[in-house]
Amino acid sequence: MKTLPFKLLLQGVIKSRFITTGLLALTLLSHTIGFTETQTAQPNPVFTTHDLGNGVIAFIKPDPLRFNDANITAIINKESVIIVDANSDLNAAEQIIAAIKSRTDKPVTHVINTHWHSDHTMANQLYQQAFAGKQIFVGHQSLTNTIVDKTQPQLDETIENLAAAIKNAEDKLASDNNDDNTLAEKIARAKAKLEKLKTINLVKPDKTFTNHLDLSTPDRRIELFNFGTAHTEGDTIVFLPDDKILIAGDLFDEIPFAGHGYPESWLATLNKIKALDFERVIPGHGSIHQGKQQLEKIITLLTKTLQQASHAVNNKMTLEQFMSSINKDEFKQSLASKDELAKRAYNHFIEDFYKQAYLSIKKDQ
Ligand SMILES: [Zn+2]
Repeated sequence: MKTLPFKLLLQGVIKSRFITTGLLALTLLSHTIGFTETQTAQPNPVFTTHDLGNGVIAFIKPDPLRFNDANITAIINKESVIIVDANSDLNAAEQIIAAIKSRTDKPVTHVINTHWHSDHTMANQLYQQAFAGKQIFVGHQSLTNTIVDKTQPQLDETIENLAAAIKNAEDKLASDNNDDNTLAEKIARAKAKLEKLKTINLVKPDKTFTNHLDLSTPDRRIELFNFGTAHTEGDTIVFLPDDKILIAGDLFDEIPFAGHGYPESWLATLNKIKALDFERVIPGHGSIHQGKQQLEKIITLLTKTLQQASHAVNNKMTLEQFMSSINKDEFKQSLASKDELAKRAYNHFIEDFYKQAYLSIKKDQ
């Protein structure tokens, strides 16, 4: 009987659950790419540290993990530290907290979550534990509800899927079909990860805002904006005008996830961001960008998918007809030329742009 490697075994479990439960595409990608590669490749370190000057430190996930967990930014001021995004890998979050403590004795006073996705919010409680619970959690006003209504189910699904994958792997280990002599070790690591996930209590924001919030300190201007629905119903960007740095959440990642997105207002949001005076971007996922080139790429992607969707709706095409008419590779060269992982992520995410564009235009009519 043909046996499947552990990686495919996990994918099989997760994909079948995806079909039956409608599990979020984001979670699917993070498991099929992230968990298995985390288990097999054990990349070290789990993030790279980039000092952007004037106390701005970006903790960037290395490329093999860039689509499955978020980057973190620490803004170290004279008297305080402000964190942007708490990621989902708790081991990485612990290492980031240790790295911050090694650089400054100032406390983390604020943790800003750019949006509700679990890979940007799950480690919030670690900052509470590490800094005596004194910090203020900050987010868009919608985050108060979405943490409960959306992040919690995403976390629950993550736990459920990992438990199911472990159970399957244990069954395989007990059978005579196992050809992976590291399977027991992988199961042990997965179990340790599962136990950590079960300890997570999601933290809601203490301080929320609608359009703009000024978190400036005496030594630095720090401005938070929400320009409308975009990647989610409540995306926060953090702009440091003196440093000309934008911390962008997932608004124009290398290949953003559009499954929870609002393409028309997303495009309007990006055009407003374009007017800000920044030179460097710390994205939610992937490497630091220079200038506005990546922003322009996503503006083009949204503009063209919306144009095509508008044409389809005007011509009374159904969603199915539209989806079968599109050239899914149109933006591949521009967005996914970096490596194989980019191509996989592109193939996984691109249809969501067309689908959401079609649905949003259809809804307007
Ligand atoms: Zn996101």
